[in-house]
Amino acid sequence: MTIAPIHRASVPDSHVRTPVGAPSRPTDRLRVPRHGACNPGTEPTATTPGSFALAPDIGGPLMFASPDTPGMPSPSDKTAWDFLPDGWRVSRCHGGEESGGSREHGVRDVSFQTARGEWIRVTYPAGFRPVTQLEHARLGIVTPEMKRVAEREPHFEMLFPGRGAEAVRDEVAAGRMVIPANINHLKHRLDPMCIGRASRTKINANMGASPVSSGTDEELEKLDWAVRWGADTVMDLSTGGDIDACREAFCRHSTVPIGTVPIYSMIIGKKIEDLDWPTIEASLHHQAQQGVDYFTIHAGVRRGHLKYVKNRLIGIVSRGGSLLAKWMLVHNRENIMYERWDDICDILRGYDVTFSIGDGLRPGGLADATDDAQLAELETLGELTERAWRRGVQVMIEGPGHVPFDQIEYNAKIQRRLCHGAPFYVLGPLVTDMFPGYDHITSCIGATAMAYHGAAMLCYVTPKEHLGLPKREDVKQGCIAYRIAAHAADIALGIPGTRDRDDALTKARAALNWEKHFELSFDPDTARAYHDEDLDVDTDFCAMCGHDWCSVRISKEIQEFASGKAEGFERIGAGGKAGAPVKSGALTPEQVKILESRGVLSPEEIHRLASKTKKAMSNSYPVTERGGGGGVTRSVTEGKPASSGAVGKLSCHSDYVDPETAQRLQREKGISERASSAHSGSDTNDLLVQVDVRPALGITKEDRVI
Ligand code: SF4
Repeated sequence: MTIAPIHRASVPDSHVRTPVGAPSRPTDRLRVPRHGACNPGTEPTATTPGSFALAPDIGGPLMFASPDTPGMPSPSDKTAWDFLPDGWRVSRCHGGEESGGSREHGVRDVSFQTARGEWIRVTYPAGFRPVTQLEHARLGIVTPEMKRVAEREPHFEMLFPGRGAEAVRDEVAAGRMVIPANINHLKHRLDPMCIGRASRTKINANMGASPVSSGTDEELEKLDWAVRWGADTVMDLSTGGDIDACREAFCRHSTVPIGTVPIYSMIIGKKIEDLDWPTIEASLHHQAQQGVDYFTIHAGVRRGHLKYVKNRLIGIVSRGGSLLAKWMLVHNRENIMYERWDDICDILRGYDVTFSIGDGLRPGGLADATDDAQLAELETLGELTERAWRRGVQVMIEGPGHVPFDQIEYNAKIQRRLCHGAPFYVLGPLVTDMFPGYDHITSCIGATAMAYHGAAMLCYVTPKEHLGLPKREDVKQGCIAYRIAAHAADIALGIPGTRDRDDALTKARAALNWEKHFELSFDPDTARAYHDEDLDVDTDFCAMCGHDWCSVRISKEIQEFASGKAEGFERIGAGGKAGAPVKSGALTPEQVKILESRGVLSPEEIHRLASKTKKAMSNSYPVTERGGGGGVTRSVTEGKPASSGAVGKLSCHSDYVDPETAQRLQREKGISERASSAHSGSDTNDLLVQVDVRPALGITKEDRVI
């Protein structure tokens, strides 16, 4: 069913960048390419032209979309509405018609209004009971999961005031969005989310025990760690250890959807040649009962495609794809997953498990990208999508892999056409193959472009890709790289509100409010540790340029500029004085680890940064200290001044006593502490005294900034 483009009137003016000011402005004169996209910054003061992407078309085929480079495949004119089960019909109707009638024998109908205001009537077999999110959406039902998704993605409500959840429902009904929420996982801790190009870009983190490394406890810890660093879903790709226990633990523990590649567990203890339908059927039911939210099934690798693989540089790099290719060659038969597709669909429907239809022939190197094998499989994935939709199952499509940068847009847009807008879930792609150890970077470059051009979810790649099983730090690096890719694409696409935190951080940066700067950053510990490595005082410059060359400080001082003067962003320093320098708090254990791993500072220097309270007691200058968590809280009188610039330690202290002992010794030595009523409610470890960093930084005493 073709759906008309979104009415511009339904996009609030505040989210659309309109030309500002006289035509002589450079942005108008130079024809900055505006295509009607929303401004990702929703504050009224957002000043850039906003996104250069297309106007949002939620409820239409383009959703949030990049403009097509000439020659790119156009979107499909079909959606999941064109692939209804037998006995179903959909048509436009006039509003207010009675629903639920049974004018024809054996059928019922329902009419409802889409978020865009169109009325549609759906006729379906009497006695039908919806199970999947797709089936509910087709009947016009807004499920609690759809409501939760709309809550988590406020731009739906911004674009469709009062009808955000209906907009989610409409995207699910069109097959352009999935809500991977197995009915059994919903009984545990799952917090429903969505994947689709009408929503923010999501990221997935792969983990799982291998035959040579890791176990369930370690993988569970990695799961929490991945979620902490922004993973929206997690795939358990265990191939070793107690796979079943690991999966069960993931489903019970995880708040994010869990995906698996079921064929892995189907062949444990047996040869791939022995794979048969009873094994497949039992395994799919078992994993669905455990609560797995999406399955990767490599049904698109067909026997006829294998001839295209012969001349590839690196053959088939998908585990599932290579296993099934071997199965086909041994048995001289079609892929059993393809042959039993309808049966597989019926199993998944029963639990509302979402398909992530695997790209078993994805390229494993740049030289194999966009080749006959990959495109032949993609055509089959389109066919499998249509068949799954006819059986009421939610679908997303997996994509490559390794793709040269120039081929990324085509890959996204050919998938959009052949699979009718079903969410595209891509691994990377890597845009160069010669940087092993840095493939989180090579791939997140490709992932950013792929998300801008249409991918809805990005599967992370860690620095260990191609080299070994990711460890904790690799998981963090992979997640952060991919959060950057997803976020950059969302801003570029003009998803309302996605740039707000960037804009807030820019204001804090302009105000040289370091604490706020770090609070707003994605990884505050790393940002704070890097800053304090050079200069553990929050003042009107940092160690990169120094005082005299700090352009941010200079801009802030120019009265005619707004720079650095946003209300609520000014740094409050010593004595509650705006703009005064403030000594940063003691390093947290996490920050200590970060600095230790960098190897720039000596252990003694790191220890000193981690022991600020003691240092403050002994400093030759009055200092200002702040707790590691942030706010300036309490003032104390300083210890006796020592010689200029010296940083010694109190005679009562050992550098290695625990904090409680240090505090007791401090009290016994009679160092007075007077709480500032102006900063009540703070931790007694937080000390505030005046700092003069001029001698340490070589700044003249006359400088008024200090
Ligand atoms: S010193 Fe340089 S890097 Fe540091 S805040 Fe100023 S302009 Fe930015």
